[in-house]
Amino acid sequence: MPNSHRIHLVQGDITKVHTEAIVNAANSSLLGGGGVDGAIHRAGGPAILEACRAIVARQGGCNTGEAVITTGGNLPANYVIHTVGPVWQGGSKGEPELLANCYRNSLLLAAQNGVKSIAFPNISTGVYGYPKDQAAKIAVETVQAYLQQHAFPQEVSFVVFDADNLALYQKLLKKTD
Ligand code: ADP
Repeated sequence: MPNSHRIHLVQGDITKVHTEAIVNAANSSLLGGGGVDGAIHRAGGPAILEACRAIVARQGGCNTGEAVITTGGNLPANYVIHTVGPVWQGGSKGEPELLANCYRNSLLLAAQNGVKSIAFPNISTGVYGYPKDQAAKIAVETVQAYLQQHAFPQEVSFVVFDADNLALYQKLLKKTD
């Protein structure tokens, strides 16, 4: 696959990653939560929450599958792109399309802001309960399809936190080497 060199797999804490933007698996209130959301706000400091509050005041939060962009505050990343993943409800409530929208809309927003490199966590696979294998397949396929058609962002990293996701992404990305 011609674009496989633009995709990277990293295991670890996304708040430490040095891409130009990192993606947050936020909730629709944009006012912080647990998991990766909590970690990003803790590490990035109050400027991120302040920027989220301004977005809430303007547009009243963020719908599932959509994305908004803020400063990266004290993070190594310049920007945080906050996207709201679907809560897993069995798979017949539009979850696959909504999860794909998270990846696509985050990439489009990054491109609109001239972002060259972006890192994604495994959206919806924590508290939101999306089966990890299905979520990984959607993430990889959606990013690959996007990269076929767009020059920006130039580089996309998947940041996996746990061993299950590491194995799943290794397998999916190997197929396209
Ligand atoms: P969601 O509500 O979308 O399920 P969670 O934050 O609960 O979001 O989990 C999403 C994924 O992020 C999970 O796979 C979780 O293991 C992972 N995660 C949690 N903390 C971090 C972190 N600091 N860096 C990267 N990934 C993380």
